[in-house]
Amino acid sequence: MTDCLFCKMANGEIKPDVVYENEQLLAFRDLNPQAPVHILVIPKRHIATLNELTGDDDALLGSLSRAAAKIAADEGLAERGYRTLINCNADGGQTVFHIHLHLLGGRSMGWPPG
Ligand code: AMP
Ligand code: ZN
Repeated sequence: MTDCLFCKMANGEIKPDVVYENEQLLAFRDLNPQAPVHILVIPKRHIATLNELTGDDDALLGSLSRAAAKIAADEGLAERGYRTLINCNADGGQTVFHIHLHLLGGRSMGWPPG
């Protein structure tokens, strides 16, 4: 997707503050952090929303979650805890239409979310 912000990050056209990368995934600090630690983990391959996932993406989503847990541990959050979430479409609050998992930590999270 040539006009997708996160595809441009995945292909190196735009350089975010990267904290982790492998062949399939990229993780970088959110530009507008909502917690002391706010990192986005994205698949390098364009998938617009959770609604577009297929069975072929099961392993990819597993890798996304495991990468988030590894990054949380690297950030010193494993024991105290953290939150991961994926927003979907308008009611979910999604603003960038390339799937991304938010990793938030470093403060206590409220529930229910806003
Ligand atoms: P969502 O609302 O779930 O689609 O999340 C999109 C996230 O992308 C927001 O938390 C934004 O702050 C973040 N964001 C937007 N542009 C950038 C950017 N250039 N670099 C890093 N994070 C960004
Ligand atoms: Zn994309």
